[in-house]
Amino acid sequence: MNTKNWTLDRMLDGAYAHCQYCGAAIRWNYVLRHPQSPAYIIVGSECVKTLTDQCDPAVAFALTQGAWKQRRHYFYKRLRKTTYIIGPRSENTWFAATSLSGVRSFGWTFEPEIFQTADDAKLALARRARV
Ligand SMILES: [Zn+2]
Repeated sequence: MNTKNWTLDRMLDGAYAHCQYCGAAIRWNYVLRHPQSPAYIIVGSECVKTLTDQCDPAVAFALTQGAWKQRRHYFYKRLRKTTYIIGPRSENTWFAATSLSGVRSFGWTFEPEIFQTADDAKLALARRARV
């Protein structure tokens, strides 16, 4: 299996005490899955960088664990020159989008999926957060 093909599935706070890749003691668990395997691996913030091409563990952490600022119709967070937004749609679903901060002409890139919960929308953005 290509080691870089893992993607972030979700994060857990302290469910596992050790990284399953390197054995280091960890607090935050990054649960990764691989397209060619039904198995999951639970790693720390260092091994996230080893096993995924795209997940920035610090940004993933901030997007999934931190508080978001609220505007009237959406929530947003700015991290490393990117603005992330999530917001409710009709029928209790959520959208998610990103934009480069301060570059209006770039516009918003909306995630193609519709999410059932705000946490699902945050996680989708976290999966794409690049180092
Ligand atoms: Zn590790």
